[in-house]
Amino acid sequence: MSFSALNLDPKLLQAVTEAGYTTPTPIQQQAIPAVLSGRDLMAAAQTGTGKTASFVLPILQQLMSQPVSQPRPVRALILTPTRELAAQVSEQVAKYSQYLQPKLKHLVVFGGVSINPQMMALRGGVDILTATPGRLLDLIGQNALKINQVQTLVLDEADRMLDMGFIHDIKKILALLPKQRQNLLFSATFSDDIKQLTSKLLHNPQSISVAPQNSTAEKVEQQVYQVAKGQKSATLIQLIAQNDWKQVLVFMATKHEANRLTDKLNEAGISAAAIHGNKSQNARTAALAGFKSNEIRVLVASDVAARGIDIAQLPYVVNFTLPRSAADYVHRIGRTGRAGMTGLAVSLVYPDEVSQLKQVEKLIGMKIPQGSIKVDPTLQLNDKELTQRPPRPPRPQPKGPAGERATPRQGAPRPPRKPAAAKADGQGTPSGRPGQPQGQRRPQASGQGQNPARPQQNRPARKPQGTSA
Ligand code: AMP
Repeated sequence: MSFSALNLDPKLLQAVTEAGYTTPTPIQQQAIPAVLSGRDLMAAAQTGTGKTASFVLPILQQLMSQPVSQPRPVRALILTPTRELAAQVSEQVAKYSQYLQPKLKHLVVFGGVSINPQMMALRGGVDILTATPGRLLDLIGQNALKINQVQTLVLDEADRMLDMGFIHDIKKILALLPKQRQNLLFSATFSDDIKQLTSKLLHNPQSISVAPQNSTAEKVEQQVYQVAKGQKSATLIQLIAQNDWKQVLVFMATKHEANRLTDKLNEAGISAAAIHGNKSQNARTAALAGFKSNEIRVLVASDVAARGIDIAQLPYVVNFTLPRSAADYVHRIGRTGRAGMTGLAVSLVYPDEVSQLKQVEKLIGMKIPQGSIKVDPTLQLNDKELTQRPPRPPRPQPKGPAGERATPRQGAPRPPRKPAAAKADGQGTPSGRPGQPQGQRRPQASGQGQNPARPQQNRPARKPQGTSA
């Protein structure tokens, strides 16, 4: 089948050809006609299957054929769980819409960056808005936009949105949308939560599944390395160096471990960068750009950050730690073998993690082949170093009264202090605990349980998890 058989406008076909795509992927073959027909859609498709184009192309076709009122109302709303995914979807909107006349306006908004430029960009309206849920609600709350004229809603990676706790935000957003609209839901896995959401959201949807549910991407070769305790970093370094791997995406359990492993790789002469939620948007973008251009060989990512990474033909994915949920394994390894390319997904497993591996194997319905590698003893790396926190900077010396030495005395050791005599606090009660040396006495806080070192201010209540993207 060729793209021209899909009844797409020649201007869209021109962009597709320029992108170098000759044949629509299976999800595109099925989803494009379904979306053009105006039906709701429930698509089981992983990242890497070409799913973004499968909704962006028909949405563009629908919008370009309609007259536009001023200011432009948001007519297509695409919700994604992460900033990276939002940015990547938006890149694809730009790519496929570049030859349309008149032009369609599109914008991407996500949290973690200043809201003001987004508010400015929304003046005059946009036709297509790609957003993460938290920032969308913030913008609506600030009257920067309305979503009451949306014709098409896309929930991209819906399973991930629920995993990340966005369900409340999604419900709020749904309440602000017009009742009459087209809903397109994409998800790699269909848990009970997702099924519940789809039953409320979708009306008589067309179901499309390009890979059997919960199966791993077709062309991904998988391997597992059982490694001795403490030997994952050394094994990884050896695998990368020995096989000359380039463009390796490594998943870590924590941001701290991601930072430490990045240091270890760089020390071993393997260029690496970390990407996770504590990094600024600029740092993430720079790391991703370096990775895409091959300046950085290894991207070490926390699970959430890695979710949105879209690199055509990403060849290697490494699970340094297996994900907590077996279904996430499917997501992770879906990073490789994108759009028909082959890829290798490697998992490193300690003996005490074998039960997790078994769960993964049960879910994907296959035993993952074992690889073996001899770790070079000269590497002398131990994974313990990844979890060790860097040493704290020394505490500042307490300032003594004028003329007193601030540095420890040289020479004879100081005689032990006598226990402090109970000192009246003005209300007739002793403020020092009996027997506690004066030097160790904690200053008294005015409120119970308060730490005087951190003054308790009237801080705004913390946002619930998942409300900002
Ligand atoms: P997605 O599943 O949307 O994240 O797409 C994965 C990758 O496949 C992206 O880099 C797309 O640019 C690419 N892609 C999308 N459609 C096609 C196609 N028909 N042929 C080849 N590559 C494609």
